Amino acid sequence: MITELHCHTTASDGTLAPAELLELAVSRGVRILCITDHDTMAAYPEARAAARDRLELWTGIEINCDDEIPGKGGVEVHVLGYFIDPEHGEFRRALDDLRSARQNRIQEMVQRLNDVGVEVTAEEARAESSGPSLGRPHLARALVRKGLVPDVNDAFDRYLAIGQVAYVPRYNLKPLRAISLIRAAGGLPVLAHPGLMGTDELIASYVQAGLAGLEVYYPRHTPEQVAGYENLAARYGLLRTGGSDFHGPGHGAEVGSVELPSDALDALREASARC
Ligand code: AMP
Ligand code: ZN
Ligand code: FE
Ligand code: FE
Repeated sequence: MITELHCHTTASDGTLAPAELLELAVSRGVRILCITDHDTMAAYPEARAAARDRLELWTGIEINCDDEIPGKGGVEVHVLGYFIDPEHGEFRRALDDLRSARQNRIQEMVQRLNDVGVEVTAEEARAESSGPSLGRPHLARALVRKGLVPDVNDAFDRYLAIGQVAYVPRYNLKPLRAISLIRAAGGLPVLAHPGLMGTDELIASYVQAGLAGLEVYYPRHTPEQVAGYENLAARYGLLRTGGSDFHGPGHGAEVGSVELPSDALDALREASARC
């Protein structure tokens, strides 16, 4: 069965509106879709209306956190949340705070860019966004539009990636808090694309805090990483998930392009029934 458990819409930094994503997913044969926008579930009303009964729509989110490895410094950690109740009060309030922190953060990043002679404004970054969750990709697109960098990747490599001159952490949200927020809202917290983050030594502490799964299947994971995370998931009794991290046509892997083994899907369904 074709599934897609990690993708983004214009509610965060994807380029397709929720209804457009739905049409594309249906046309590619996706039977289970979960939209995991950064810090918002605003895509769901439109996505639900568009889905009708053509596919199963699971609720989801991706919360980008920052953590610290002693001796190594700051690392980014992305936590996915599945089967969250979008109406959960504490969760909604936490997301409101995260999104307003994102607005201030872009302002700070713009200031740092201006300080090194890169002339861009927060309004220009906001103009690249049509949803509630403003992020670095919007600022990157503004830099591209102004001809200040050749492409979005270059904007990250030169200015916006962690460790570069304009990087500002999103908000002081640690993965442990994201994990407990997701649990409190009835969801399953899953570590996103662990192979990209260099945070393997922190996984044991996340499991202690309530982590439920690992995103084992991911386009940029090598076969060795997939095997390694499958073993880790078995060792800790974690669920395995997978998705493309689709952000729009021409932005990397296609929607529905990552295969999730059927036993991993069955385990997810079972776990969701217990949520
Ligand atoms: P933010 O949540 O605002 O920090 O933005 C994080 C998002 O930026 C990620 O989820 C990716 O979509 C995107 N991103 C991160 N690193 C890069 C990169 N090197 N090149 C292009 N996009 C990136
Ligand atoms: Zn993104
Ligand atoms: Fe991510
Ligand atoms: Fe993502």
